[in-house]
Amino acid sequence: MYRTHTCGELRVGNLHQTVCLSGWVQRVRRLGAMTFVDIRDRYGMTQLVAGEQSPGEVKQAIDRLGREHVIQARGTVVERANKNPKIATGEIEIMVEELRVLSASEVPPFTIEEQTDGGDEIRMKYRYLDLRRAVVRENLELRHRMARAVRNYLSDLSFIEVETPVLIKSTPEGARDFIVPSRMNPGQFYALPQSPQTFKQLLMVSGFDRYFQIVKCFRDEDLRADRQPEFTQIDCEMSFVEQEDVLEVFEGMTRHLFREIRGVETGAFPRLTWDEAMSRYGCDKPDLRFGMEITDLTGIARGKGFAAFDEAGYVGAIRVPGCAGYTRKQLDELTDFVKQPRVGAKGLVHVRCHDDGSLRSPVDKFYPGEDLKGWAVACEAMPGDLLLLLAGEREKTLPRLCELRLEMGNRLGVRDKNVFRPLWVTDFPLLEWDEETRRFYAMHHPFTSPKPEDIDKMTSDPGSARANAYDLVINGVEIGGGSIRIHDAALQSKMFDCLGFTREEAEAQFGFLLGAFKYGAPPHGGIAFGFDRLVSLFAGLDSIRDVIAFPKNNSGRDVMIDSPSVVSAAQLDELRINVNPQETRE
Ligand code: ASP
Repeated sequence: MYRTHTCGELRVGNLHQTVCLSGWVQRVRRLGAMTFVDIRDRYGMTQLVAGEQSPGEVKQAIDRLGREHVIQARGTVVERANKNPKIATGEIEIMVEELRVLSASEVPPFTIEEQTDGGDEIRMKYRYLDLRRAVVRENLELRHRMARAVRNYLSDLSFIEVETPVLIKSTPEGARDFIVPSRMNPGQFYALPQSPQTFKQLLMVSGFDRYFQIVKCFRDEDLRADRQPEFTQIDCEMSFVEQEDVLEVFEGMTRHLFREIRGVETGAFPRLTWDEAMSRYGCDKPDLRFGMEITDLTGIARGKGFAAFDEAGYVGAIRVPGCAGYTRKQLDELTDFVKQPRVGAKGLVHVRCHDDGSLRSPVDKFYPGEDLKGWAVACEAMPGDLLLLLAGEREKTLPRLCELRLEMGNRLGVRDKNVFRPLWVTDFPLLEWDEETRRFYAMHHPFTSPKPEDIDKMTSDPGSARANAYDLVINGVEIGGGSIRIHDAALQSKMFDCLGFTREEAEAQFGFLLGAFKYGAPPHGGIAFGFDRLVSLFAGLDSIRDVIAFPKNNSGRDVMIDSPSVVSAAQLDELRINVNPQETRE
């Protein structure tokens, strides 16, 4: 028997028992004649001790121990003289009577402890060692608990988990596909799914009624901190539902997770239409942990001779509480912030609302007397507040105000990781105009149904048609998104027309779905959650990489297995792929 207990299990209740533990050596400390060894496994750490009176073989074996050796130790549980309240087993130690090295270890490339000396790169290369660290392992344990809670919750509501294929067909659904050559069909390719969207809709046609799947999806996009080329979704679909039914089930699931996993009650989720979210927060994923909403000052700020505002289509402000005393330097920093290319504003105007009720602004010569007061009233400013104004084209200025608002939220420390403010954003536009290709794209995906009252707009004014589409946003992060689908072949064709697909193109890409709709498609809708993001939010982390066992780096590489990599010429020949060797890189 390798072990009677785990390394996280023994307490004073076990005193005097003979036990056997197996695990990794985290640390060896020698103090005079005494040697202390921390032995670690998934469950925790226990201190082993050997001294003067220990058997000779034990003393010899302990002398040869190095970090990360795998050992087995048999001994008696004794009370520690120096208790360590920081670890669960800190009141006891094991007086070793027998010690066996099960597997030796070379000196590890970085210290495998809570505080490590290993940089990002080296820890990724040796990810299997990094995963031995409790802080990293705990993220995966959290992920597992959340996946299990999701499975149980949905299963109890009669959802069934169905696996959909991974080798599918390339379709233009938003992002770029990863493609896989087919050896048996030379010159033809599979695509990896960006989501199981069409399959889950086909399952509804098959009558499955309530489907879910915790599923890998693949998108060949440029990577950012919160993106991975492969990621996991909680993908769901329901039949005979309207938007309200879907929101109810998945708000229930999300609240259940908060309660079970984090022990927090979020209450009912507020809802904002997309229009409201844009005008009040400047974006479709507002962070509701703090106020500082945007006020539209266009009507009162223009026409007073201040050219920057007069020439702008829109002037908007945020009210920053208690910052009237910002120094010149702090204001210059904010100006630099809004002027950086990522944000893109030309300048920033501020108004200080002093405690004596007076208002001061560098532009006050254009706005004498009651004019500035009008802004303060519109923004509901209090003495001590600072107003920050941006101006320009409305579509561009709102997102800039959003960035500025988030920056001020950070500066004021009001974006607490332990506070959760979920909301639904509804009524998204159906279509999005792309200036470059000069055509409309589906904002969500081409199967999203328009609001029934907006169907006519699909032809008369496509840009203003709204969709039965919704997002779940938590703390400024888009956690989930979905829609009620089109279940009528004629409406689906109309949608393809709007997107500029010819009948032939639509048939070639989605003929299978249009075909299925001819045989009785129930009204249906669904949602998909970004599972990695949800877990990292629950873990209080900024990047999804930390909740993925074997993530890829920012260039989409797995530096541990060294992938992607070149393959042999023979393999390529078999696939009938010609690659110029000059173009392949190690
Ligand atoms: N398939 C969609 C997505 O991945 C989600 C949905 O509409 O259910 O964004």
